[in-house]
Parts: sequence; C-alpha cells; structure tokens
Amino acid sequence: MRQPPIIDRSNDQYFMREALALAAEGALLGEVPVGAVVVQDGVIVGRGFNRPISGNDPSAHAEMVAIRDAAQAVSNYRLPGTTLYVTLEPCSMCAGLIVHSRIMRVVYGALEPKAGIVQSQGQFFAQGFLNHRVLYEGGVLGEECGAMLSEFFRMRRAKV
Ligand SMILES: [Zn+2]
Repeated sequence: MRQPPIIDRSNDQYFMREALALAAEGALLGEVPVGAVVVQDGVIVGRGFNRPISGNDPSAHAEMVAIRDAAQAVSNYRLPGTTLYVTLEPCSMCAGLIVHSRIMRVVYGALEPKAGIVQSQGQFFAQGFLNHRVLYEGGVLGEECGAMLSEFFRMRRAKV
C-alpha cells in the first residue's frame, strides 16, 4: 500500500481567497464569477477565472483556464502533487480534466446543485474506472463563494 499523502490544510482559506479574487475579475467582464488557482509546494502556479463568453470558448471554465496556465508554467502535461482551489464545485468537463491532469487534491467552495459532479449530481472522483484517485473536499469559504455568485445573479436580474 502506498502511504496517503500528507495534506496541509493550513493555507486552504488563503488560496481560496486568491481564487475568489480571480472570480471577482471575471464578474467585471460580465462572466459568472468562478475563480481557480493551482498550487504546487505552497506556490500558485496557475490562475484562472470563468470566461467562456469573453473568450468565445465554452471550455473556458475557471478550472480549465487555471490548469492550462499551470501546465504551461511548470512545462508538464501532468500536475502531480498539486492542489486545485476553485470557488465552485466542478462540472463533469472539469472533473475529467482534473483526472487527466493528475491533480492530487481539489478544494472547492460553494456547491453547484445543478451541474456539480463531485458530490451534488454524482461522485465522479469515486468512479471505479478512473486510473487516478483525486482527493477532494468542499465547503472551504463556501458561504463567501456562494454569496459572490448569488450577488452576481441578483445584480444581473436587476439590470434587465
Ligand atoms: Zn467546469
């Protein structure tokens, strides 16, 4: 048996705040505010926010953008030992990418009841066919992450 990795949770809130700051950048562009960072050895190596509309790119979810950024930064198509922080529970597309990237751990903030695939609409990372085990936990700064989304949608409704 391989030893389970030692998880350092002491900076989880700090990195989630960085992801929240990125989400806020997206909101300024009119994008649904979701932000993500990839952390390796305590350093942010990838950043992203949700930007499908401004980028004309349906795949430009925060996780996708941050993972691409990280892979370029470390010049590796795999990101072992890294932690992805994202303000919203990942969708099926991003969950697949997380496995392909060999990310060690995913930490998310708010739940995504409609499309979240980590715990809301299924438990993707527990699927037996996957050849890589991802550690995951939700609810880190969950209220703040959820509040940013609620406020965005409230403002958008108010504008119409
Ligand atoms: Zn996604």
